[in-house]
Amino acid sequence: MDDVVKELVDALPPGVVVTEEAALEKYRHDWTHDASAGTPRAAVRAETAAHVQETLRWAGRHGVGVVPRGAGTSLSGGSMAVDGCITLSLERMTAVEIDTAARVAVVEPGALNVDVKRAAAAENLWYPPDPSSFEICSIGGNVATNAGGLCCVKYGVTTDYVLGMDVVLADGTLVTLGGKRVKDVAGLSLLKLFVGSEGSLGIVTKAVLRLVPAQQPSSTVVATFPTVAAAAAAVVELGRTVRASMVELMDHASINVVEDFRPMGLDRDAGALLLVQSDAPGASRAEEVAAIVAACELSGAKDVIDTDDPEDGEMFVQARRVHFTALEPRGAVLPEDVGVPVPQLPELLAEIADIAERHGVEIPVVAHAGDGNTHPAIVYDATDPDSERRARLAFDDVMHAAIRLGGTITGEHGVGRLKAGCLEDQVGPDVMDLNRKVKAALDPQGILNPGSFV
Ligand SMILES: Cc1cc2nc3c(=O)[nH]c(=O)nc-3n(C[C@H](O)[C@H](O)[C@H](O)COP(=O)(O)OP(=O)(O)OC[C@H]3O[C@@H](n4cnc5c(N)ncnc54)[C@H](O)[C@@H]3O)c2cc1C
Repeated sequence: MDDVVKELVDALPPGVVVTEEAALEKYRHDWTHDASAGTPRAAVRAETAAHVQETLRWAGRHGVGVVPRGAGTSLSGGSMAVDGCITLSLERMTAVEIDTAARVAVVEPGALNVDVKRAAAAENLWYPPDPSSFEICSIGGNVATNAGGLCCVKYGVTTDYVLGMDVVLADGTLVTLGGKRVKDVAGLSLLKLFVGSEGSLGIVTKAVLRLVPAQQPSSTVVATFPTVAAAAAAVVELGRTVRASMVELMDHASINVVEDFRPMGLDRDAGALLLVQSDAPGASRAEEVAAIVAACELSGAKDVIDTDDPEDGEMFVQARRVHFTALEPRGAVLPEDVGVPVPQLPELLAEIADIAERHGVEIPVVAHAGDGNTHPAIVYDATDPDSERRARLAFDDVMHAAIRLGGTITGEHGVGRLKAGCLEDQVGPDVMDLNRKVKAALDPQGILNPGSFV
């Protein structure tokens, strides 16, 4: 251990800093499993905000880069290790406290999303943001990426639920932004600046999250279509007519990926499947379900079923959620997260199919379709350099297709390291410059999450 790292070890309680190679292995990769992941010099497993402050003061003194890490489920390379940097893990800060009177959860960053949902449910309350990874990702990571999910089409994304947070800045100062108040417009919207900042502006050490009354059990419509274009047209139609609580799409390839991995009885011959839910209250439920069925039929669905049984519905939701895991046996994956305005969804899906054909790669697509947010998964053979080369070309082409259609290179996973080179193509030089100015103002030494998007 060198003297610089020893100073950090000595400054923090025993067991907080790990430096052994075997222990550091766990902190190298996130879920992108990108080959460029480095090895941290040390990993700090902070137990308190004071540990985070101490670590950042030390990093500033020595100019050491710090990669913040929650549960490491990033799909954009945001939490993978960087050689020469340390990893600052929040996994040990897991407290969750529910304030039923203020209807908020006060949460430490390492608590998993599912822990907040469970604690809220015990009080008949609900924390809506539900990334597919909700059982394995942390609230700190959710806040830092402004995570989305399946119910966001009706209930919004993480930022819509963050009322306050404690953030440790690059120089070790702890600031409290917002709080338990529902309304607060005092000063600049600094809270919003930190949500989605991907660990590049500060470390979230506490979040105050808005809760809502428990969701009603949902009714589910499952529609299969002869083509993905017809399914996408149904999504556009749905957006015009109803406010569904979930609108998920699986294309032909992704249906078969899931069926190969865990047979669930999905229609392997379908060109695409839409999974739509309604949680509308009372009599309006039947009307909404009828409108969903009608929109699917109008767009050419070949088979439409609906059920009020939440367990049946949950089975289809599981099939959708398991998609990323189901890809594992097929090879390495470059996970995409591009989004477009909903009316452009059919065009984006057509372009993705063209790109797959042009580069000779498999690209199964699932989508939070109601938000226009797609997850094309570019599958390649990591042992074949040509396969990887074609996959990376396809990865870039998909992002540029989204940009051309007025969309975004990332709807919810973040820019991270995988997409850092493409951000300027979306936002342009002036906005990129503004990003860099904000970064320079808050982190002049550039120690926070080096190599990520700014
Ligand atoms: C199977 C699967 C399905 C997924 N589905 C979805 C989905 O539906 N929707 C969605 O939005 N995402 C999804 N994701 C992506 C991922 O789970 C989210 O981005 C999640 O928010 C990351 O949380 P984490 O705790 O794992 O963060 P990490 O991977 O540890 O970190 C993510 C980013 O946040 C930063 N960070 C983490 N904690 C802090 C903190 N306390 N302070 C400051 N910065 C911090 C990191 O530096 C990094 O840049 C999925 C991932 C997987 C593996």
